[in-house]
Amino acid sequence: MTLDNIKEEIKKAKTIVILCHESPDGDAVASSLSVMHAIKQFGKNADVVIPEYSKDFKFLPGSEEILQKGKDEPYDLAISVDCSDLKRLAAGKEYFETAKKTIEIDHHSVNSMFADLNYVDPAAPACCQVLIGMFEYYGVKIDKDLATCLLAGIITDTGGFQWGEVTPETFEFAAELIRDGAKIKEICRRALRHKSKAHCELEKIVYERLEFFEEGKVAIAYLTLEDYKKAEAEIGDDEGVVDMIKDIEEVEVAVLLKEKEGVAGFKVSLRSNDEVNVSDVAMLLGGGGHPGAAGCFVLGNVEQVKAKVLNAIKQEMNK
Ligand code: 5GP
Ligand code: MN
Repeated sequence: MTLDNIKEEIKKAKTIVILCHESPDGDAVASSLSVMHAIKQFGKNADVVIPEYSKDFKFLPGSEEILQKGKDEPYDLAISVDCSDLKRLAAGKEYFETAKKTIEIDHHSVNSMFADLNYVDPAAPACCQVLIGMFEYYGVKIDKDLATCLLAGIITDTGGFQWGEVTPETFEFAAELIRDGAKIKEICRRALRHKSKAHCELEKIVYERLEFFEEGKVAIAYLTLEDYKKAEAEIGDDEGVVDMIKDIEEVEVAVLLKEKEGVAGFKVSLRSNDEVNVSDVAMLLGGGGHPGAAGCFVLGNVEQVKAKVLNAIKQEMNK
């Protein structure tokens, strides 16, 4: 069974690296740290390598151990969490590709199963929820630190139990994590509600730029490199901006185009309420994600990218 094989590989490995997707969200950082805490209980240490992440996640227990770079020599084992595709590991890709053995733990349904051992549960609303099941199987003790990380992943990926595949089981897991000492108030305040001033500046720009299509069902806005500079934004300051667009009256699909440095294109964030599967929209453009939250990268200027994205949304709406 995959779970037994994963445990076997962890026990065998002398050096282990944990990696997650680029522009990591709360679930990605929390899953990485959760695996690190669990591996310590196997009497081992693992390097968590995340080159850049939002300061909103620095309250997570163990985040002070996060490294920007890994070791020069190849690792015995690389574990990828919350990442559906080798390409999205970005800077972590080199550690993954040179590792002697590789493991993927994830919850994205569009998944390239890119590791030697893949443990993927698309029914889980967060990678951290997949981990809870694994840890139960392994008999890992859920202490206060681990509980805080696991609950942070669930809360951030579901927008506070609002979206994704939230089921009664998710609440049961959450209740148990709170019993184990998870700091729910701090998680909600710091990882969910906290907004930097730069974030508010970006929100202002986005409200001014909103354009509506398809009888108001599609709302699109964009942020340029110049906007990020003017707002003095740091990594993660644009987190949640696209969700705010989704909540506007009549909007079914929210789109935020975020200009990327040095690549002549835009990172596209897609969100949907119920009607449209944005993961299928993203796949038409070479990306992926979940039915309600997905993303991709599209080359071109604002108008070109907008047209390509709108076209893909229309295709999906008319299906
Ligand atoms: P976000 O808009 O927050 O960056 O991403 C929303 C969801 O879509 C996340 O689950 C994320 O992993 C996924 N996603 C974002 N960009 C890409 C992409 O370029 N490729 C794939 N496969 N998934 C993506
Ligand atoms: Mn996730």
